[in-house]
This record gives sequence, C-alpha cells and structure tokens, in this order.
Amino acid sequence: MNHCHIGRCRAALIALLIAGLGPVPARAQLPTLGDGSELSSAAEKRLGDRIAREMFRDPDYIDDPVLAEYVRGIWQPLLDAARARGELTVELDQRFAWQVLLGKDRIVNAFALPGGWLGLQLGLINVTTSRDEIASVLAHELSHVTQRHISRLQSEEKKSTPLLIGAMLLGVLAMSRNPQAGNAMLTGGQAVAMQGQLNFSRDMEREADRIGFGVLTQAGFQPQGFVTMFEKLQQASRINDNGSFPYLRTHPLTSERMADMQARQQLLPKGAPTPASVALEHALMAARSKAVSAGPIDDIRALVREADMPPPGGTHQRRAAVWYAGSLAASRVRDHARAEAYAQKLAAEVQGDAVGERLARLLGAEVAVAAGQPARALSLVGEAGAGSSRPEVLLWAQARTATGGGAEVAQRLQTWVATQPRDATAWQLLANAYASQGQSLRAIRAEAEAQVAQLDYSAALDRFKAAQELARRGGAGADYIEASIIDTRTRQVESMLREQSLER
Ligand SMILES: [Zn+2]
Repeated sequence: MNHCHIGRCRAALIALLIAGLGPVPARAQLPTLGDGSELSSAAEKRLGDRIAREMFRDPDYIDDPVLAEYVRGIWQPLLDAARARGELTVELDQRFAWQVLLGKDRIVNAFALPGGWLGLQLGLINVTTSRDEIASVLAHELSHVTQRHISRLQSEEKKSTPLLIGAMLLGVLAMSRNPQAGNAMLTGGQAVAMQGQLNFSRDMEREADRIGFGVLTQAGFQPQGFVTMFEKLQQASRINDNGSFPYLRTHPLTSERMADMQARQQLLPKGAPTPASVALEHALMAARSKAVSAGPIDDIRALVREADMPPPGGTHQRRAAVWYAGSLAASRVRDHARAEAYAQKLAAEVQGDAVGERLARLLGAEVAVAAGQPARALSLVGEAGAGSSRPEVLLWAQARTATGGGAEVAQRLQTWVATQPRDATAWQLLANAYASQGQSLRAIRAEAEAQVAQLDYSAALDRFKAAQELARRGGAGADYIEASIIDTRTRQVESMLREQSLER
C-alpha cells in the first residue's frame, strides 16, 4: 500500500537499493532464472537471498535490537494470521526467509523482495502514529509475497523473464557505483522496459489490499490502520514533495483504493480502543526511530533542542517521546550528560507502565554504554539470565565485556547463538568477548559465523581460512577441539559458497 500502488513496487525497490550498495563486488553476477516460465519458489528464494546478502552489506542496513524487536512483535502475528487463513502455504513457510530488514533511511518506504525478505525504512515508522499503521503496511507487503506476485510478474512477460529481475539488480548495482551510469541505464530503452515489467498490476495491488486487510484484522490489529495510513501518505505527499515519498510522487494513491479500504473497515464492528500502554510503546518506538534515522547533525540537534524546551501542554505520551528522542539524540552527538538527564526524565514520566519502564531502562543502559559507563548500564539491565530478551542480552554482553566479564559473556552468548545462529550481532559480540579473553582463534571463528549469518559465505571463508592459518601456527598451545570445529565449518561453508556460485 504505502509503496506499491500501481507500479510503485519497482520504484520502491530501486529506491532502497540505491541507498548505497557500495562498490559492486566482482562476484555480483546475474542469477539465471531458468527458461522463462514462472519463477519457482526455489529460484525465488535463491534470488531473494542474493538480494538480502547485498542489503546486509549496505551501510543503510541496521540491526537495532530494540526496533527490530518491536517490528517483529508486529510481523509475527501477521505471519501467524496468514498461516491460519491458509494464505501462507507450508512449502513457502519453510522455504522463504520471512524476515523484515530495517533500513535507517528517512524515506517513507516498505517493500517486498523475492524469497520472503521485506524491507522497511525507519522513515516509514517515523510518520506512523500507531502500530496498526505499521501492521497495515507489512500485511499488504506480506500478501504480495504469499500470493506469489513476484513470480507471477515474471510469467506475464515470458519473453524477457530471465532478464527481468537480473536487469533490475544490475541497474541498481551500477547506479550505486556510478550515479551517472545508473541514470543512463534508467533513461535508456532497457530501463523503460524494466519499468513496464516490474510494476505490480492493478489487480495485484487490489489483491494485496484485500488479503492484507484480512490478515491484519485476524492478527488483532485495528483495521483503521489501513485507512489512516492511506490518509497519512496522501496528506504527506501533498505538503511534502522533497523526495521523501518517491513512490507517491510517481504514482499517487487512487481514491478508489482509499474508498475500498474505508468500506471494508465500516463493515467490521468497531474495535476496542487501543490500550494506553500500547500507544505509549508506539510513541517511544517512533521517537527512537526518529533519533536513529536522524541524519545531518542539524536534525539530531533539533531533537535535543526539543527536549531542552519541550512544547508546553503536551500529553504524557508526547512528553515521554520527546525525552526518549532527546536522550538518544544527545547520546549520538556525544552529549552524555544531557543523554542521561533525559533518560532519567523519561524513566520518571513512564513510571507505572511496565512496557514504558522497560524501554526507559534499556535506553538508560544504552546511553550509559555509549558514555563509557558500563557499570551503570549493568545496574539497569541486570544479569541478563536465560529468560532475558534480545535487547537486554546484547546490551548486557557489551557492558559486561567492558567490565572484564568476557568469559561470562562468551558462555552466555554461546548458548544464545546455539538457538539463534542467524544473529550476526550476537556472533560479533561473542567475537569481542573471546578477543577480550585473548582467545583469538575462537574470536575469528565467531566473526566468520557473523558473515555466514548474513549470507556472505565468501567473507566467512576468508575468516575461517585465517583461523586455520592461526591454528597451524599455534603449535602445542593450539586448541585442538576448536581447530577441528574450524576445519569442519570451513568445508561446510566452502560447499555453501559453491552452491551459491552455481546459481549464477
Ligand atoms: Zn503493493
């Protein structure tokens, strides 16, 4: 809905990928997609993983544990609802990634990628006023994937199918390397052809709206979210034409789609009002998103200034959001005293609300770590035992490593990655913990696993080979068990890399 109104999906995808894929790696070649028939789910997954690997390497990609947890808390019920409604087949469920990647750009954007990967820019979270609005966007995108719109797009243009997504990828990669070359491609005949082919059809957009609406309501979100999100985008696009809404500028929302959503919503009984705690949580997460995505130094400072002089007469939620954003923004410009002061004001403001208190504690710990005060952070996040959530565990690991507890952290994170092997950030913190203990071999292996988690097998192999070399030079002091684990993983990743290469 937000992005891909008729034809907007292409623009949205390009917009994100343009955001900076960095230099084109020599191995970024086109996958072959078969003979031009409909893209199989296996081929779509391979293509999606390839795009995801590039996105992980994009400087715009961000693993923000707090925002990731919040988005996951919205995404997971939508997935469950899609399963319960039979929209998500067992085959796709198992094969695709079903993972939302966050980008820290301030453009308002969300999009489905092949293979069950979704992109969500923080700019979109910034303009929302409820979790239902984020849910409505994700439900629409999810439905594009479950309805196999990407593979059906392919089959509608059989002649050029193998080139379709490949050409798009190439164009995007070229553009990130050389803006002029990219623009030339986009204005050339090939680009025109791409534009025509990569648009989702009007029918597909209607279908994604209809199915997304069902998924959204079944998941327990307010159907009003769809309508208010449409209104918000419509309104914003009228007053804001600075490129923050690229897809809206090229393909404005039709009144037909808005009317359709309004009609659907009116057929449903009016839901219960949003609990205050849910609204507070969203206000704090939108504030966080603003502080994380604030780019130029002026924008960050504006958030600090707002906390310096909060507008009079604000609501409780509004005040809490201003303290939250002000504290994190101050921390980002290394004004640690202000960051702590505003974190404390936030803690006082949200007292009595369990969710708000937890978010305030996490923020306090985060700004303490940034201020070089890990002991204060530890007093806020506690011991991060087995039952703790990801943001607590990762913050604790940082703070505890900094206070000389590397061995303890290594032990905790080993059990963490055993159940969450795709958690690249946890692998990296594990590497830091090992390094702090002088365990270089294990540190390098954990770094390699962080690369595997982000599908970059080539970079992983470099690290594994470095570890093998270190083990060989280790002599009598070598850790034989570790060395044999490294040998096994090296062979496994070599074979994964071969498979990845065969897909080209
Ligand atoms: Zn769409």
